[in-house]
Amino acid sequence: MKIIVTGGAGFIGSAVVRYLIRQTNAEVAVIDKLTYAGNLASLAEVSGSDRYHFFHQDICDGAVLEKIFNDFQPDAVMHLAAESHVDRSIDGPAAFIETNIVGTWTLLEAAKAWWQQLDSSRREAFRFHHISTDEVYGDLEGTQDLFREDTPYAPSSPYSASKAASDHLVRAWMRTYGLPIIVTNCSNNYGPYHFPEKLIPLTIINALAGRELPVYGNGQQVRDWLYVEDHARALWQVITQGQPGETWNIGGHNERQNIEVVRTLCALLEELAPNKPAGVDRYQDLIRFVDDRPGHDLRYAIDAAKIERELGWRPQETFESGMRKTVAWYLANPLWWQQIMDGSYRGERLGLGRK
Ligand code: NAD
Repeated sequence: MKIIVTGGAGFIGSAVVRYLIRQTNAEVAVIDKLTYAGNLASLAEVSGSDRYHFFHQDICDGAVLEKIFNDFQPDAVMHLAAESHVDRSIDGPAAFIETNIVGTWTLLEAAKAWWQQLDSSRREAFRFHHISTDEVYGDLEGTQDLFREDTPYAPSSPYSASKAASDHLVRAWMRTYGLPIIVTNCSNNYGPYHFPEKLIPLTIINALAGRELPVYGNGQQVRDWLYVEDHARALWQVITQGQPGETWNIGGHNERQNIEVVRTLCALLEELAPNKPAGVDRYQDLIRFVDDRPGHDLRYAIDAAKIERELGWRPQETFESGMRKTVAWYLANPLWWQQIMDGSYRGERLGLGRK
């Protein structure tokens, strides 16, 4: 199977590429613009494989995409390239409209042109797999409600609105043109190679440096956390076993308040990194509540019953085991995140956001 993976140098994309190269026989062509969120160091473990190819390209460039499709001749596309950080979407929505909506449309057009000229058996087997988020559903007020595949869309942020738009485009390309698409909507991911602007890596890295641990509002926002390697495995099951036109929700059964996540990380660091920076008595003393994010969603939680029932997928990591692995990974791989913090991974200094 020859698979184009867009956004393969990002957090989830690189986990997918590592999974495909190590656990399957797939040949992979990564298309990635290497924005601030893309990092070739996240692919170093598999980049020596002769089944791995990298194209430093923008998914908004239709002519480039056409050439890659014709040269590589894919059987499937896994589309992960996106602008993905909610805070950045509030400060500057333009890049989100461009990559998430225009980029997805451009990629759909390239995939359609390639797919239309395939012979009938390859046409039938072809898949365009769009990787999306549970944030398209908005947020949940009750403590019992869950997002299901048929939950109406109600996105809150420029990020989630742009992802919702891309989901609609992808479904329309099947309904209108017959392109065999699959959509997955997943909850919050965490794990190795997570960019240090997001809550979990930011907390670990700030704590190790003795810096404050910012928590938005009262910290009671609930997210459903999934270990990134469990997500990569789910995506492989969906693309190889799922029927075109289907949507699959993917979640971790790990609902936690943000403040609980930060306290769990502090407790793990007490155990795994007991030599604290000067002046720090307990890591949790560094927690600071800061002004809430505008439009901050209160609770997300996924009903993953369909993928469990129909494809037999379940997360292998619990919240406790996944968080422990994650903290251990950041402790064992300081070079990866230090090169991001000092900007040397792309030769420039970044003003990293809070979360
Ligand atoms: P990320 O920000 O870590 O990575 C995005 C990647 O896309 C980067 O490598 C970046 O260089 C690349 N990219 C951005 N614009 C591009 C363009 N125009 N052309 C080509 N490449 C471009 O994101 P992530 O957290 O790995 O998320 C991947 C996908 O999964 C996204 O579509 C996101 O919406 C979705 N998702 C993420 C989560 C999560 O918790 N992180 C949860 C559910 C769904």
